[in-house]
Parts: sequence; C-alpha cells; structure tokens
Amino acid sequence: MEKRFQHLTVCLDMFGCPNRCRHCWLGHAPNGHLNEQDLIWVADQFRPYASSLELFDWYREPDYSDDYRTLWELRKSLSDTVTPHFELMSVWRAVRDSAYVPWLASLGVSKVQLTLFGGESSTDFWTGRRGAYREILQAMDLLMENHISPRIQVFVNKENINELPLVEELIREKKLVSRCAAFGGEFTAFVHTGSCDGENANHYDIWPTQEYLAKIPSMLAEYTLRHFQVQNLQEVFGEPESSLYLQLQHDPSTESFVEDNPVLYVDSRFNVYPNLTAPAPYWCLGNLKERSAGEILDNYVQGRSMAQTVRREVSLGELVRACGDPNSNRLFDKGDYTMYLLNRYCEKKIQEGIAL
Ligand code: SF4
Repeated sequence: MEKRFQHLTVCLDMFGCPNRCRHCWLGHAPNGHLNEQDLIWVADQFRPYASSLELFDWYREPDYSDDYRTLWELRKSLSDTVTPHFELMSVWRAVRDSAYVPWLASLGVSKVQLTLFGGESSTDFWTGRRGAYREILQAMDLLMENHISPRIQVFVNKENINELPLVEELIREKKLVSRCAAFGGEFTAFVHTGSCDGENANHYDIWPTQEYLAKIPSMLAEYTLRHFQVQNLQEVFGEPESSLYLQLQHDPSTESFVEDNPVLYVDSRFNVYPNLTAPAPYWCLGNLKERSAGEILDNYVQGRSMAQTVRREVSLGELVRACGDPNSNRLFDKGDYTMYLLNRYCEKKIQEGIAL
C-alpha cells in the first residue's frame, strides 16, 4: 500500500490534565482514563498510512498518569521517530512523585516551562486549581536541584497585567538567575497573550491593547525580547485589530490547511482533529471508533471538517467583515487573528443553524 504521508504524528489525550486553565487553547474537555491497549490500537490504525509514525500518549498535561514511565517506553516502541521529551512537565506530578523530576533530568531535559499569571491568587484563579502557585514554586526548586532551568511564561490580559511586578519580585527573591547559573543553566522568561482560541477566546474583552504594553516592567520586557529574538514588544503582541481589519477586509485568499506531515489530536472519545487550534467539533475529522483511519485521513486531505471547508470556500476578507471589529485596538498576531476569525465564523454559523 502506498504510504500517504512521509511523517505522521498522532497524540492521544489519554488522561487529560489536572488543571483547568482559563487561557487553555486546548479547551476544557473531560479527563479520559485510557489504557495502553488504546494507545497501541490507535497506533495500529494509523500505521499503514505513514512511512514514519510518531505516537504521543498526551496532548494536554505530559506525564500526568501514574505509569508515565511505562507510557514513555511504550510510545517510543510504537514510534518510528522519537522526539526528545518536550520542555514541559506535570507540576502536579513533580510535587507528588519524588522520582519524576530526576527522571526528566535522566532524559536530558535541561529547561522546563512553568506558567504564572502574577501572584498566588491570580495564578490559582487562572490555572483553575487552588494551590497551583505554591506547587509551581515547589516545582522550581525541584527542577533546579536536578540542574534543570525553569523558564517562566506569563499569559497577560488587561486584568492581570498589573501583577507582573510580582513575577519580577519572585525571580529576585528566589534568585533564579544565579541559582541556574550555578549549575551552568540559564533562567529565562517571557510574557505574551497566547492565541485567542479555546478557553482564551473567552477573554477577547480583556485582550491587551497598545497602551497596556507600557505596563510590562522592564526586566520581563527584556526577557521577552530575548526569548522571541525581537526588537520590540509590538512584534510579540502584534498589531491592533483595527489595522488588521483594514489590511484584510478585501483579502480574497483562502487556505487548505493540509500539511505534508500532519499532527493529529485524538481525544479520549477517539474524535480526531488536526493540530491547528482548539479541538472544537467544527474541526473534527471523524471518530476513530466509527470510521477507519483511512477515511479520517481522506477527510483531512480533502478538507472536509466544517472549519476546513469554511476556510477553503470563504475568503479572509469575508471572515474579517463577518467577525472582526474595525474599532478594536486589541493586539493580535496576524496568523492567530485569522484563526480567531475562522473559529468565530464557524461558531456563528452553528448558532445560526447553518450546516455546511
Ligand atoms: S493550558 Fe495546559 S495545563 Fe492548562 S488546562 Fe490546558 S492543557 Fe492543562
């Protein structure tokens, strides 16, 4: 059989996530309780269609399951290509399982990203879990004890941006720079909005505008420029929506969204989505228990999900005119804004009862 893809990545949301972050671009789906046989079965379904297949046992919280080490070995054995462990971790597990952070170090992980939203109450609130902030601080210590440098990511909106000085205070108080340097590591940090999809799309109303950038304190601003390798914060936060609206309102372009080496998300109910934005129903390519992987991949290649169909048939200009706000100065990266408009457009059509 001819292999349809040179490389295909499939990520199965086996256990979900302990958090319910209010900015989560992946959305708040229920946690699953899948087993090793499910991962093996998913791999078997897709294997005939790719010369090289890579399997992941998660796409929300990595290593959330108690048998994370077994799953790591299993996913390696099921994969033709194995990407090293991402610079991501389960904070939840780190503070409950003393073997976890040393295991990450044994895999060669040298940096790990941790997410803050300001001080304790804000971080707990935005992470959607009481005690999250304290656990993140504990995790930082565990990481550095194991010679792994923490990288702090802060998601900002109009409500939490005034708390950024608390993050700077934390960096100083915990002496993160010198403690990382002591083992040859490098502390890093950055501030951004994240993309306006999934749960984060609910915060459109409090999305930062240009004048809010002046509220980002100098130390975090410098870390951010260094992280993104850019000259100014505008390049990180993007352009005002009003300016994007003007640029795009007559844009005739459409898009297919079909990649040569796709990444697919399979949720705990075996619905399959392309990894482009939140796995919403209008992106669904089919259910693997009801359709073969071949049919699902056909749907992907032919762009048959509702969102793919819309983007193939509706020009960018029309999306902007239908769902953009010419009077808004919220800051967006152009690509993220296009995806935001497409998602809004699909939701609008569904609300209007228009099936595509
Ligand atoms: S952002 Fe990450 S940690 Fe937060 S709820 Fe989503 S998947 Fe979980």
